[in-house]
Amino acid sequence: MPERHLARLLAAQLAIVFKFYPIAIASSTVLALFISLTLSLIADQFLLWSWLLVTLVLSGYRYLLFYQFDRNKSRLSLSAWSSMHIFVTALSGVIWGYAILFLMPEDSLGHQLLLIIATAGLCSGATSTLALSPRAYLWFLASCLVPLSIKLYLIVPENGFWLSGLSYIYMYFMWSTCLRNNKTGIHNLEQSLSLQYQELALNESQRRVDLHFDNSPLAIIEWDDQFNISRWNPAAEAVFGFSSAKMLGQSFQCLLPAKAKGDYFLQLQTSTSNSTAVLENISCSGGPIKCEWTTAAIKLEDGSLLAYTSFVRDITERMQQDELIAHQAHFDVLTDLHNRNYFQSRLSQQINRSQRSKEYGAVFFVDLDHFKTINDSMGHSIGDLLLQQFALRLKTRLRGYDTLARFGGDEFVVLLDAGDQDYEHSQLIAAQVARSLQLLMQQPFSLSGGEYTLTCSIGITLFNGSDANEDELLKQADLALYKSKDAGRNRYSFFAQEMSQQASRHLGLLTSLSEAVSNQEFTLVYQPKVRIDNNQVMGAEVLLRWNNKDFGAVSPVEFIPVLEGSSLISKVGFWVLDNALGQLASWLGSGCWRKGMELAINISPKQLLASDFVEQVEILLAKHGIDAKLLEFEITENVLIDNTDRVASVLEELTALGISFSIDDFGTGYSSLAYLKKLPIKVLKIDKSFIDHCTTDDNDQAIVRSILSICHELGLTSVAEGVEYEEQQRQLEKMGCDLLQGYLFSRPVPPQEFTALHLK
Ligand code: C2E
Ligand code: CA
Ligand code: CA
Repeated sequence: MPERHLARLLAAQLAIVFKFYPIAIASSTVLALFISLTLSLIADQFLLWSWLLVTLVLSGYRYLLFYQFDRNKSRLSLSAWSSMHIFVTALSGVIWGYAILFLMPEDSLGHQLLLIIATAGLCSGATSTLALSPRAYLWFLASCLVPLSIKLYLIVPENGFWLSGLSYIYMYFMWSTCLRNNKTGIHNLEQSLSLQYQELALNESQRRVDLHFDNSPLAIIEWDDQFNISRWNPAAEAVFGFSSAKMLGQSFQCLLPAKAKGDYFLQLQTSTSNSTAVLENISCSGGPIKCEWTTAAIKLEDGSLLAYTSFVRDITERMQQDELIAHQAHFDVLTDLHNRNYFQSRLSQQINRSQRSKEYGAVFFVDLDHFKTINDSMGHSIGDLLLQQFALRLKTRLRGYDTLARFGGDEFVVLLDAGDQDYEHSQLIAAQVARSLQLLMQQPFSLSGGEYTLTCSIGITLFNGSDANEDELLKQADLALYKSKDAGRNRYSFFAQEMSQQASRHLGLLTSLSEAVSNQEFTLVYQPKVRIDNNQVMGAEVLLRWNNKDFGAVSPVEFIPVLEGSSLISKVGFWVLDNALGQLASWLGSGCWRKGMELAINISPKQLLASDFVEQVEILLAKHGIDAKLLEFEITENVLIDNTDRVASVLEELTALGISFSIDDFGTGYSSLAYLKKLPIKVLKIDKSFIDHCTTDDNDQAIVRSILSICHELGLTSVAEGVEYEEQQRQLEKMGCDLLQGYLFSRPVPPQEFTALHLK
């Protein structure tokens, strides 16, 4: 038997034993008082009253024990209570034994009988009050009856022995009765304990079920067979907002929107299996919520329906998040236009469609001009607003079935369905759309109190069942965009096949150029500038040559822009300066550089604007020990126009060193005369395109004449570039040009040939 059970059994036994205490105490006290009164005249007074006193004290003590057990049984251990009980029971037995031994008169049969009956009565009564405590009973029995047997033996002269023996027989009967009572009592106790255990277990399992029900994170709803709510847990309260009190007895309809028929519940009534579904429900606030329901029919062993239980989860938020994620997978967060992923899938569909219909589609790459400048100067929040408004305008102009997307930054892409099988007509439609988009964007944008005027460049490629896939079409539109930007922005261009060849050559050149300095593929040639009247060499222009193993000799007209489009121009420019100054130093050292001659070096805009350019020049001048007065830097007009302030300060610093400046290709750019006065310019080089026809074309002649008059007015030296014929030389001399540079006198030549030219 488990220990816990034994302890419970003992506790139950003690409880019953102590329950009888008041009756046992009362009966023995009343009996003691009665006996004392009856014996008061014949017994020894001292023995009698002291006996009564002890009896009363013991009764009092027993009552105290009972009281303590009743109120505070945990004060002592069960075995301690049990020992106390045996002890006081034995003591009361001893008291009655004492009464028999010392108070029983030897000559009064009546009193003798009284005492014997009282003691026998107590012993017999105790068979049931002490049935659950046989040890205590045995002590009590022995303490009462052993003295009785002795007394009987002593006071009955003839049959004393038999009478004494009778008391032992009586003792035996009482003891066996007590043991029988004990057996029945223990059996009853065991049964009641086992019932208690069952009840406890039942309560425990009910408690667990209730706890699960109350603490479940899932809403749990129990229904009767008609789908009226019979239980509604706190989670259901949280999901739907209705209290349990309000919902009990309600039908499923109260959780559904007004028009819903409740098919889910109706089907459940006829089906036997569990059913899961997502339902639109209504909550206490009236708002619709999306819930995932799983409902099971609860059946008894015989198959009869007891109830339905539904487990409900509110998935409104999760569904909204799923929708958001799905949205974000296809949309751009800033402008809410489609994103690259979506655009590409639409483009792929459109390619397939146009393959069948042979109708042209168009991909537009739209890019805001100078957006980076706005973003950097006005801040990114204004930039973002601008992109949003830009997107909105694009949207208003395009038709619903055109696809509009943003690929990031200021890159917008449009997929247009021209709906025409004729290339030229489709091109016309695309051009009209492009132009109208550009006009739309030119209207000022008002943002945070300011007005901004923008332009955009557009690259377009057309397709109808061509071999190009989405990526290639996008690349084509991008190349066309690049062309628009290159051609001065705020325009649109159509993709042409050469563009992609150009682009791949561009990439190839760039890759090779990045190693050209270290591979020593560059050389310098020198083209003399001569006085127009007597062909005396007055200096030379340094020109860069590149010879690559893959590309051969590439013209600077091609590779210089590639260098300028990357950061390589600074590195190569530095190489040119270093080598040209090295050459000049060697000529000076060998006396091959006549006094008054100047060496002109082309400086590209990026190079000039680099923050360390002046410093580099100073270092190289010092390295080669060159007087800066021997140098002339050729710069283009564009660099002056775009960055006037910065250029002015660089030019001034370099002028202070002694370097002079010429404007290259004069006449082809802005030809703004203002800067000529402001900046320290010494020479104008008239572009070859005007020189070519200056003998035949009146317009060119007029231009050359006016450039020369500017030179005269401002005291600038004039140089005619690309002079190939003597006729040109004569004409230019007549018009008052100072110097000439061109094949007529010499092509650009390697250094040793150059010295031969002017020393001859
Ligand atoms: P540019 O500065 O205008 O140089 C003059 C170009 O005209 C040179 O072409 C020269 O060879 C060519 N030329 C001179 N006389 C005649 C002529 O009578 N007929 C014809 N048909 N052409 C003539 P090149 O050397 O091909 O250089 C082209 C451009 O490359 C230069 O134009 C210059 O802008 C750039 N460039 C060349 N070397 C450098 C350099 O070291 N640094 C920088 N930044 N640019 C350079
Ligand atoms: Ca030049
Ligand atoms: Ca030039």
